[in-house]
Amino acid sequence: VSVDEEKMEVTAGGGVTFRSLAEAVGDADGALPIGTGDTVGVTGYLVNGGISGYFGRRLGMLGQRVIELTFVTADGVIKILSPSSSSDEDSTLFNSVLGAGSALGVVTSVTLKMESGSSFQSGGQVIVPCGTQDSAKRFARLALSFLRDSVLPDESVSMELVVTADFTCISTFIFYDSFKFDPISYVNPIRDAATAGNVPIVVDNVTQWNTWLEAASCLWPIIKEMKGNPLVRMDHSMGTTTYPDDDLLNFIANEWIGGVPLEDASQSIVEIRRSEER
Ligand SMILES: Cc1cc2nc3c(=O)[nH]c(=O)nc-3n(C[C@H](O)[C@H](O)[C@H](O)COP(=O)(O)OP(=O)(O)OC[C@H]3O[C@@H](n4cnc5c(N)ncnc54)[C@H](O)[C@@H]3O)c2cc1C
Repeated sequence: VSVDEEKMEVTAGGGVTFRSLAEAVGDADGALPIGTGDTVGVTGYLVNGGISGYFGRRLGMLGQRVIELTFVTADGVIKILSPSSSSDEDSTLFNSVLGAGSALGVVTSVTLKMESGSSFQSGGQVIVPCGTQDSAKRFARLALSFLRDSVLPDESVSMELVVTADFTCISTFIFYDSFKFDPISYVNPIRDAATAGNVPIVVDNVTQWNTWLEAASCLWPIIKEMKGNPLVRMDHSMGTTTYPDDDLLNFIANEWIGGVPLEDASQSIVEIRRSEER
């Protein structure tokens, strides 16, 4: 990994994983829309996923931050590709690599434009162990209403709701530089949802992360402990142009959370995210 702090650019080789990228970006007081796993390959993520639940709303997808990438095609041709690649063929190849790259060749390095670390204001979580599936369903339905009605219209904050196999609901908030309210009182509706369902709150600290790197690395120790072969449902909602209606929220609460055998897999996770349309 090499960083050009003046240009706010970082270059990662094809085999770099997120821990070393994130630490280099954090040292440069930068920020990038990275994923949650420290052992995930930067280029593997770039060419197959690139959806950052925590940072996507402010920073977009990682692919949107590519300035240049070096790509070896399946027939051995080395290409330097960028968003402004001049030929139609290279331009098409560049766009195709960001989504289908692993079927087309190998990325040997990528240069990314960092955002300033000050784009991140603070972040943290409210963790509610609901205890039963029914209770998780009811809590999540209220949390989803808050997500739709308060979070989605406000571009200065993002929220991710995760429901784990033991019916713990984790609401993660990221407040960006343009957030003008008090983060602690902002999440009162989540506390109210816990009170309404008579379920405890075991973690209530939405300002626990004060730097981008603290937020970016928060799940590394948890992911390290994960073992086994989990049943994982990941349901991402990207680029929706309208707010979800009640029917959709009911479906998510009743079917994704209330209707699947979460308890049968020790690490099953339902993730509900929404990034700004881009
Ligand atoms: C703990 C964890 C958290 C995750 N979080 C997120 C998340 O928040 N957001 C998200 O979008 N995704 C997330 N993912 C999914 C992850 O982005 C994909 O699984 C990704 O494909 C993993 O890439 P890898 O290089 O680590 O894996 P590998 O299994 O090594 O590679 C996956 C595929 O990518 C290809 N590939 C890898 N490197 C290159 C390269 N340099 N050039 C061309 N092809 C290449 C491989 O050939 C293979 O087909 C997560 C995964 C894990 C395990």
